[in-house]
Amino acid sequence: MNFMENKIFTKLVAEAKALGAFKANIIEAGDIITDRAFRGMCESNACGVYGKCWMCPPYVGEIDELMARVGKYDYALVYQTVTELEDSFDFEGMIEAKKKSYPLAQSLRKAFDDVHFEKVLHLGAGGCGVCEVCSKRTNEPCRFPELAMPSLEAYGINVSELAKASGMKYINGQNTVTYFGAVLFSLRDGE
Ligand code: SF4
Repeated sequence: MNFMENKIFTKLVAEAKALGAFKANIIEAGDIITDRAFRGMCESNACGVYGKCWMCPPYVGEIDELMARVGKYDYALVYQTVTELEDSFDFEGMIEAKKKSYPLAQSLRKAFDDVHFEKVLHLGAGGCGVCEVCSKRTNEPCRFPELAMPSLEAYGINVSELAKASGMKYINGQNTVTYFGAVLFSLRDGE
């Protein structure tokens, strides 16, 4: 890592933490493990959103194509949020915690909105989360294509392995819920 890279990476990690990430770290995108089996989990529709959001399968894209796209970036800023729950059955708390992770993911767009990056891909925690109800449900076009954000899982990313590669815990203690996001990026030549 050269001096300029070190400076940019330090700034990105600090920004993610300042915006509310519990932890954040930069890893090489080549260390991200993908598996098409995650598409099967989406298809099982445990979340109830399969086929109901433009950023979720099947509309987000073919799994092999998306997994291949992950390998086209050089680095990833991986970040996590950790939220306390009333107890391990606090499903409302889990949904609220996921909603709180969306503003962080969107705010990070601004951190990447400068001249250092050749290309950037933002991936969040489960679903898109920009609109209360996705326009896919009424078969209308996406309302905010510039903000729409697919999940790590939609791209076949193994999040527990991502946590390990980033030096973070996948689970952060009893009565807490942890969500992950990542920003894949390549720096411009000369940075
Ligand atoms: S921005 Fe809104 S309409 Fe577009 S994919 Fe996300 S939730 Fe759906």
